[in-house]
Amino acid sequence: MVEMPFVNIDIEDEFAIRSTSEVNIKKKRKRTTGRENEEDSERKKKKKKQSQPNYFISIPITNPEITSGVQAVQDTIIQKDHRLSKAMVHCGSLHVTLLVMHLSSKEEVSTAVGALSDSKDLVEDLLKGKTVDLSFQGIDHFKNEVGFVKLAESDHTAILMEIAETIKTIFQEKGILAGEDRAFKPHLTFMKLSKSPKLRKQVKKIDPSLYEKFKSHYFGDEILHRLDLCSMLKKKQPNGYYYCESSVILGEKHAAEPDDAELVSLSKRLVENAVLKAVQQYLEETQNKSKQTDGSPVKTEEAASGSKSENENDNSK
Ligand code: C5P
Repeated sequence: MVEMPFVNIDIEDEFAIRSTSEVNIKKKRKRTTGRENEEDSERKKKKKKQSQPNYFISIPITNPEITSGVQAVQDTIIQKDHRLSKAMVHCGSLHVTLLVMHLSSKEEVSTAVGALSDSKDLVEDLLKGKTVDLSFQGIDHFKNEVGFVKLAESDHTAILMEIAETIKTIFQEKGILAGEDRAFKPHLTFMKLSKSPKLRKQVKKIDPSLYEKFKSHYFGDEILHRLDLCSMLKKKQPNGYYYCESSVILGEKHAAEPDDAELVSLSKRLVENAVLKAVQQYLEETQNKSKQTDGSPVKTEEAASGSKSENENDNSK
Protein backbone atom coordinates (compact mmCIF):
# COMPACT_ATOMS: atom_id res chain seq x y z
CA MET A 1 0.00 0.00 0.00
CA VAL A 2 1.36 3.41 -0.97
CA GLU A 3 1.75 5.78 1.97
CA MET A 4 1.71 9.52 1.49
CA PRO A 5 4.60 11.75 2.52
CA PHE A 6 2.26 14.67 3.30
CA VAL A 7 3.03 14.85 6.98
CA ASN A 8 6.69 13.91 6.78
CA ILE A 9 7.45 16.82 4.49
CA ASP A 10 6.28 19.37 7.08
CA ILE A 11 8.10 17.61 9.90
CA GLU A 12 11.29 17.31 7.84
CA ASP A 13 11.30 21.01 7.02
CA GLU A 14 10.45 22.19 10.53
CA PHE A 15 12.64 19.87 12.58
CA ALA A 16 15.82 19.43 10.54
CA ILE A 17 18.65 19.60 13.14
CA ARG A 18 22.17 20.55 12.03
CA SER A 19 25.46 20.59 13.96
CA THR A 20 27.71 23.77 14.05
CA SER A 21 30.31 22.22 11.75
CA GLU A 22 27.59 21.31 9.33
CA VAL A 23 26.40 24.92 9.38
CA ASN A 24 29.96 26.22 8.76
CA ILE A 25 30.52 23.85 5.88
CA LYS A 26 27.14 24.86 4.52
CA LYS A 27 28.04 28.60 4.83
CA LYS A 28 31.28 28.03 2.92
CA ARG A 29 29.50 26.04 0.29
CA LYS A 30 26.87 28.74 0.09
CA ARG A 31 29.49 31.32 -0.93
CA THR A 32 30.89 29.09 -3.64
CA THR A 33 27.78 27.42 -4.83
CA GLY A 34 25.09 29.97 -3.92
CA ARG A 35 23.28 29.58 -7.18
CA GLU A 36 23.23 25.80 -6.91
CA ASN A 37 21.68 26.08 -3.44
CA GLU A 38 19.04 28.44 -4.71
CA GLU A 39 18.18 26.01 -7.45
CA ASP A 40 18.16 23.22 -4.92
CA SER A 41 15.74 25.03 -2.64
CA GLU A 42 13.52 25.89 -5.63
CA ARG A 43 13.51 22.20 -6.56
CA LYS A 44 12.59 21.26 -2.98
CA LYS A 45 9.79 23.84 -2.90
CA LYS A 46 8.44 22.54 -6.21
CA LYS A 47 8.59 18.95 -4.95
CA LYS A 48 6.76 19.92 -1.75
CA LYS A 49 4.05 21.70 -3.78
CA GLN A 50 3.70 18.66 -6.01
CA SER A 51 2.92 16.35 -3.12
CA GLN A 52 0.85 18.67 -0.92
CA PRO A 53 -2.82 17.77 -0.69
CA ASN A 54 -5.05 19.95 -2.87
CA TYR A 55 -8.21 17.79 -2.96
CA PHE A 56 -10.14 15.82 -0.36
CA ILE A 57 -13.13 13.56 0.12
CA SER A 58 -15.64 15.30 2.33
CA ILE A 59 -18.71 14.30 4.31
CA PRO A 60 -20.68 17.55 4.34
CA ILE A 61 -22.49 18.57 7.52
CA THR A 62 -26.13 19.17 6.58
CA ASN A 63 -27.89 18.97 9.97
CA PRO A 64 -28.79 22.56 11.00
CA GLU A 65 -28.74 21.54 14.68
CA ILE A 66 -25.00 20.79 14.38
CA THR A 67 -24.34 23.95 12.39
CA SER A 68 -26.07 26.20 14.90
CA GLY A 69 -24.26 24.48 17.81
CA VAL A 70 -20.93 25.10 16.11
CA GLN A 71 -21.94 28.71 15.46
CA ALA A 72 -22.67 29.10 19.18
CA VAL A 73 -19.17 27.84 20.08
CA GLN A 74 -17.59 30.17 17.52
CA ASP A 75 -19.60 33.17 18.79
CA THR A 76 -18.61 32.43 22.39
CA ILE A 77 -14.91 32.24 21.47
CA ILE A 78 -15.04 35.44 19.35
CA GLN A 79 -16.76 37.29 22.20
CA LYS A 80 -13.80 36.42 24.42
CA ASP A 81 -11.12 37.11 21.77
CA HIS A 82 -12.12 39.10 18.68
CA ARG A 83 -8.89 38.30 16.86
CA LEU A 84 -9.96 34.65 16.57
CA SER A 85 -12.82 35.47 14.21
CA LYS A 86 -10.24 35.05 11.42
CA ALA A 87 -9.68 31.46 12.52
CA MET A 88 -13.31 30.37 12.26
CA VAL A 89 -14.51 27.88 9.65
CA HIS A 90 -17.54 29.18 7.71
CA CYS A 91 -20.65 27.26 8.81
CA GLY A 92 -21.46 26.46 5.16
CA SER A 93 -18.22 24.55 4.76
CA LEU A 94 -18.39 22.31 7.83
CA HIS A 95 -17.34 18.79 6.93
CA VAL A 96 -15.55 15.66 8.03
CA THR A 97 -12.47 14.89 5.90
CA LEU A 98 -12.33 11.23 4.88
CA LEU A 99 -9.25 11.34 2.69
CA VAL A 100 -6.76 13.92 1.38
CA MET A 101 -4.96 13.64 -1.96
CA HIS A 102 -2.87 15.47 -4.50
CA LEU A 103 -4.25 15.77 -8.04
CA SER A 104 -1.87 17.47 -10.45
CA SER A 105 -3.75 17.50 -13.77
CA LYS A 106 -7.22 17.43 -15.31
CA GLU A 107 -6.61 13.77 -16.12
CA GLU A 108 -5.90 13.00 -12.47
CA VAL A 109 -9.06 14.85 -11.47
CA SER A 110 -11.13 12.67 -13.81
CA THR A 111 -9.39 9.55 -12.49
CA ALA A 112 -10.39 10.69 -8.99
CA VAL A 113 -13.98 11.30 -10.14
CA GLY A 114 -14.02 7.70 -11.42
CA ALA A 115 -12.52 6.43 -8.15
CA LEU A 116 -15.24 8.17 -6.15
CA SER A 117 -17.90 6.66 -8.38
CA ASP A 118 -16.36 3.17 -7.85
CA SER A 119 -16.24 3.87 -4.11
CA LYS A 120 -20.03 4.32 -4.00
CA ASP A 121 -20.72 0.65 -4.86
CA LEU A 122 -18.07 -0.69 -2.49
CA VAL A 123 -19.21 1.52 0.38
CA GLU A 124 -22.82 0.50 -0.20
CA ASP A 125 -21.74 -3.17 -0.14
CA LEU A 126 -20.06 -2.47 3.22
CA LEU A 127 -23.19 -0.79 4.58
CA LYS A 128 -25.59 -3.56 3.44
CA GLY A 129 -28.51 -1.12 3.52
CA LYS A 130 -27.68 0.18 7.00
CA THR A 131 -27.20 3.88 7.65
CA VAL A 132 -24.16 5.45 9.32
CA ASP A 133 -25.20 7.76 12.11
CA LEU A 134 -22.40 10.12 13.08
CA SER A 135 -22.92 11.55 16.54
CA PHE A 136 -21.05 14.75 17.42
CA GLN A 137 -20.25 15.47 21.04
CA GLY A 138 -17.57 17.40 22.90
CA ILE A 139 -14.60 19.48 21.78
CA ASP A 140 -10.92 18.67 21.32
CA HIS A 141 -7.89 20.14 19.54
CA PHE A 142 -4.80 19.31 17.50
CA LYS A 143 -1.74 20.92 19.13
CA ASN A 144 -3.96 23.79 20.34
CA GLU A 145 -3.89 25.10 16.77
CA VAL A 146 -7.03 23.41 15.44
CA GLY A 147 -10.33 23.26 17.36
CA PHE A 148 -12.77 20.50 16.44
CA VAL A 149 -16.00 18.82 17.52
CA LYS A 150 -15.44 15.18 18.40
CA LEU A 151 -17.23 12.15 17.02
CA ALA A 152 -18.78 10.11 19.80
CA GLU A 153 -17.34 6.58 19.90
CA SER A 154 -19.78 3.97 18.58
CA ASP A 155 -19.95 1.10 16.10
CA HIS A 156 -20.80 3.80 13.55
CA THR A 157 -17.31 5.29 13.95
CA ALA A 158 -15.86 1.81 13.37
CA ILE A 159 -17.73 1.53 10.06
CA LEU A 160 -16.62 5.05 9.15
CA MET A 161 -12.99 3.97 9.63
CA GLU A 162 -13.66 1.00 7.35
CA ILE A 163 -15.25 3.27 4.73
CA ALA A 164 -12.26 5.64 4.84
CA GLU A 165 -9.83 2.72 4.46
CA THR A 166 -11.81 1.25 1.54
CA ILE A 167 -11.91 4.59 -0.30
CA LYS A 168 -8.19 5.17 0.30
CA THR A 169 -7.38 1.76 -1.22
CA ILE A 170 -9.56 2.47 -4.29
CA PHE A 171 -7.87 5.83 -4.91
CA GLN A 172 -4.38 4.45 -4.38
CA GLU A 173 -5.06 1.50 -6.70
CA LYS A 174 -5.89 4.04 -9.41
CA GLY A 175 -2.45 5.57 -8.91
CA ILE A 176 -3.59 8.61 -6.97
CA LEU A 177 -1.31 10.05 -4.29
CA ALA A 178 -3.82 9.76 -1.45
CA GLY A 179 -3.77 9.33 2.33
CA GLU A 180 -1.55 10.49 5.15
CA ASP A 181 1.07 8.90 7.36
CA ARG A 182 -0.87 9.70 10.52
CA ALA A 183 -3.83 7.58 11.55
CA PHE A 184 -7.27 8.66 10.40
CA LYS A 185 -9.02 10.56 13.19
CA PRO A 186 -12.48 11.69 12.08
CA HIS A 187 -13.31 15.17 13.42
CA LEU A 188 -15.30 18.29 12.64
CA THR A 189 -13.02 21.33 12.50
CA PHE A 190 -14.63 24.62 13.53
CA MET A 191 -11.48 26.76 13.83
CA LYS A 192 -7.82 26.70 12.85
CA LEU A 193 -5.09 29.29 13.30
CA SER A 194 -3.64 28.42 9.88
CA LYS A 195 -6.61 30.16 8.24
CA SER A 196 -4.82 33.46 8.79
CA PRO A 197 -1.00 33.68 8.67
CA LYS A 198 -1.25 37.15 10.26
CA LEU A 199 -3.28 35.77 13.17
CA ARG A 200 -0.86 32.87 13.54
CA LYS A 201 1.90 35.36 14.28
CA GLN A 202 -0.23 37.00 17.00
CA VAL A 203 -1.81 33.89 18.54
CA LYS A 204 0.37 30.81 18.91
CA LYS A 205 -2.13 28.59 20.76
CA ILE A 206 -5.91 28.42 21.22
CA ASP A 207 -6.69 28.64 24.93
CA PRO A 208 -8.99 25.66 25.79
CA SER A 209 -10.78 27.77 28.43
CA LEU A 210 -12.36 29.69 25.52
CA TYR A 211 -14.58 26.70 24.70
CA GLU A 212 -14.76 25.17 28.18
CA LYS A 213 -18.57 25.58 28.27
CA PHE A 214 -18.94 23.24 25.29
CA LYS A 215 -16.38 20.64 26.39
CA SER A 216 -19.05 17.90 26.59
CA HIS A 217 -21.83 19.56 24.60
CA TYR A 218 -23.93 17.31 22.33
CA PHE A 219 -24.12 18.91 18.88
CA GLY A 220 -26.37 16.46 17.03
CA ASP A 221 -26.18 13.57 14.57
CA GLU A 222 -25.38 13.52 10.87
CA ILE A 223 -26.57 10.61 8.76
CA LEU A 224 -23.94 9.81 6.16
CA HIS A 225 -25.64 10.19 2.80
CA ARG A 226 -23.17 12.02 0.53
CA LEU A 227 -19.48 12.03 -0.31
CA ASP A 228 -17.91 14.93 -2.23
CA LEU A 229 -14.63 15.24 -4.07
CA CYS A 230 -13.68 18.82 -3.11
CA SER A 231 -10.95 21.19 -4.15
CA MET A 232 -9.02 22.88 -1.33
CA LEU A 233 -7.90 25.72 -3.60
CA LYS A 234 -10.70 26.51 -6.07
CA LYS A 235 -13.14 29.31 -5.27
CA LYS A 236 -15.79 28.17 -2.79
CA GLN A 237 -19.52 28.07 -3.61
CA PRO A 238 -21.76 31.03 -2.62
CA ASN A 239 -23.05 29.00 0.36
CA GLY A 240 -19.51 28.76 1.72
CA TYR A 241 -19.02 25.10 0.81
CA TYR A 242 -16.06 23.85 -1.20
CA TYR A 243 -15.94 23.54 -5.00
CA CYS A 244 -17.04 19.96 -5.78
CA GLU A 245 -15.65 18.05 -8.76
CA SER A 246 -18.20 15.29 -8.14
CA SER A 247 -20.49 13.81 -5.49
CA VAL A 248 -22.02 10.41 -4.77
CA ILE A 249 -25.23 9.80 -2.86
CA LEU A 250 -25.16 6.73 -0.65
CA GLY A 251 -28.10 4.40 -0.06
CA GLU A 252 -30.01 5.86 -3.03
CA LYS A 253 -31.10 2.39 -4.07
CA HIS A 254 -32.77 1.79 -0.74
CA ALA A 255 -34.36 5.22 -0.58
CA ALA A 256 -35.67 5.67 -4.10
CA GLU A 257 -35.17 2.59 -6.28
CA PRO A 258 -37.18 -0.47 -5.28
CA ASP A 259 -35.32 -3.77 -5.59
CA ASP A 260 -36.78 -6.90 -7.37
CA ALA A 261 -38.76 -8.16 -4.35
CA GLU A 262 -40.29 -4.72 -3.85
CA LEU A 263 -41.25 -4.53 -7.55
CA VAL A 264 -42.98 -7.97 -7.43
CA SER A 265 -44.94 -6.99 -4.32
CA LEU A 266 -45.85 -3.63 -5.87
CA SER A 267 -47.17 -5.21 -9.09
CA LYS A 268 -49.16 -7.80 -7.03
CA ARG A 269 -50.81 -4.95 -5.12
CA LEU A 270 -51.60 -3.15 -8.37
CA VAL A 271 -53.27 -6.25 -9.87
CA GLU A 272 -55.26 -6.85 -6.64
CA ASN A 273 -56.46 -3.24 -6.63
CA ALA A 274 -57.45 -3.43 -10.29
CA VAL A 275 -59.45 -6.67 -9.69
CA LEU A 276 -61.13 -5.16 -6.62
CA LYS A 277 -62.06 -2.06 -8.58
CA ALA A 278 -63.53 -4.16 -11.43
CA VAL A 279 -65.61 -6.23 -8.98
CA GLN A 280 -66.78 -3.04 -7.26
CA GLN A 281 -67.80 -1.52 -10.59
CA TYR A 282 -69.64 -4.70 -11.62
CA LEU A 283 -71.56 -4.81 -8.35
CA GLU A 284 -72.52 -1.15 -8.59
CA GLU A 285 -73.80 -1.65 -12.10
CA THR A 286 -75.83 -4.76 -11.29
CA GLN A 287 -77.29 -3.18 -8.12
CA ASN A 288 -78.17 0.02 -9.97
CA LYS A 289 -79.97 -2.16 -12.50
CA SER A 290 -81.97 -3.96 -9.76
CA LYS A 291 -82.69 -0.55 -8.13
CA GLN A 292 -84.18 0.60 -11.43
CA THR A 293 -86.43 -2.52 -11.60
CA ASP A 294 -87.62 -2.90 -7.94
CA GLY A 295 -87.05 0.75 -6.76
CA SER A 296 -85.19 -0.26 -3.54
CA PRO A 297 -82.22 2.00 -2.45
CA VAL A 298 -78.75 0.46 -2.51
CA LYS A 299 -75.62 2.01 -0.84
CA THR A 300 -72.52 1.88 -2.99
CA GLU A 301 -70.23 1.11 0.06
CA GLU A 302 -72.36 -1.86 0.92
CA ALA A 303 -71.95 -3.09 -2.62
CA ALA A 304 -68.21 -2.76 -2.29
CA SER A 305 -68.17 -4.94 0.86
CA GLY A 306 -68.97 -8.01 -1.26
CA SER A 307 -71.90 -9.74 -2.91
CA LYS A 308 -71.84 -12.90 -0.71
CA SER A 309 -72.96 -11.22 2.52
CA GLU A 310 -75.67 -9.28 0.77
CA ASN A 311 -77.01 -12.47 -0.77
CA GLU A 312 -76.90 -14.12 2.66
CA ASN A 313 -78.89 -11.22 4.11
CA ASP A 314 -81.35 -11.50 1.34
CA ASN A 315 -81.66 -15.24 2.00
CA SER A 316 -82.21 -14.61 5.74
CA LYS A 317 -85.49 -12.70 5.09
O1 C5P B 1 -9.54 18.16 7.49
P1 C5P B 1 -9.75 19.36 8.31
O2 C5P B 1 -10.00 20.61 7.52
O3 C5P B 1 -10.75 19.16 9.39
O4 C5P B 1 -8.37 19.57 9.04
C1 C5P B 1 -8.10 20.70 9.81
C2 C5P B 1 -6.64 20.73 10.23
O5 C5P B 1 -6.37 19.73 11.18
C3 C5P B 1 -5.67 20.54 9.09
O6 C5P B 1 -4.75 21.60 9.14
C4 C5P B 1 -5.00 19.26 9.40
O7 C5P B 1 -3.66 19.25 9.01
C5 C5P B 1 -5.13 19.14 10.90
N1 C5P B 1 -5.15 17.74 11.36
C6 C5P B 1 -4.24 17.35 12.32
N2 C5P B 1 -4.25 16.04 12.75
C7 C5P B 1 -5.13 15.15 12.25
C8 C5P B 1 -6.07 15.55 11.29
C9 C5P B 1 -6.05 16.88 10.85
O8 C5P B 1 -3.44 18.15 12.78
N3 C5P B 1 -5.12 13.90 12.69
